[in-house]
Amino acid sequence: MAPLPSLPRIERLHLADLVLPETHPEAKTSGGAAVVFGFVIDHPDGPIVVDTGVGRGHPFIDAVYAPTGLDLGDALSGVGIDARDVIAIVNSHLHFDHCGQNPLYYGSKVPVFVQAEEVEAARQPHYTVQEWATVPDGQMRRVRGDEDVAEGVRILATPGHTRGHQSVVVEGGEGEVVVIAAQTVWDVKEFDLEQATPANVDEEDLRDEAVASIRRLKSLNPSAAHFSHHPTVWRSSPGIR
Ligand SMILES: [Zn+2]
Repeated sequence: MAPLPSLPRIERLHLADLVLPETHPEAKTSGGAAVVFGFVIDHPDGPIVVDTGVGRGHPFIDAVYAPTGLDLGDALSGVGIDARDVIAIVNSHLHFDHCGQNPLYYGSKVPVFVQAEEVEAARQPHYTVQEWATVPDGQMRRVRGDEDVAEGVRILATPGHTRGHQSVVVEGGEGEVVVIAAQTVWDVKEFDLEQATPANVDEEDLRDEAVASIRRLKSLNPSAAHFSHHPTVWRSSPGIR
């Protein structure tokens, strides 16, 4: 599909803060806390949400991660978007902190784009919170590799953190590209240095693919890259970071 005449507005939504238990692989990296961002692309066809944060009222998640944060609807209205106007959801992957508020849209006609491999993985015990991650059949859009979501918005498979992890590429205007890299990396340094850390990519056999995913996103010459758990936005010109 063709790029848009101009780059649509992309807003980062600060959906939650987590307290990481000592057993969490990133607990040391992050000083025991993690931010959770979702994103919304204010597309001319209607808003497209990328990741929905953490859900509410799950006893295990509440006990282990003590999440605090915003309801997705409030986060969207905070950037001037009506949650009822959303036309599509993309989940980078189905861990509990990326699909937690998907149920807001379950039972509607809003399609939810997830890699087919991720759907399979999410059926395994202890992978996620099933009631958040289980997309109703009629809304599930199983993605195999790369796929267009709308004009100027496409999904790129970026395996690493999970086998079915995906990123979103937004393109508009004079070839300007912004990537929502989600959890392709944990922090901006890993993106800069093209590193797959054991903390973010715990399956050893996925580390080469994880590095390839970072390089694939950078090969698009993005002006910016956004991450799920790190507040710094990567910029192509280091001087303006
Ligand atoms: Zn994850």
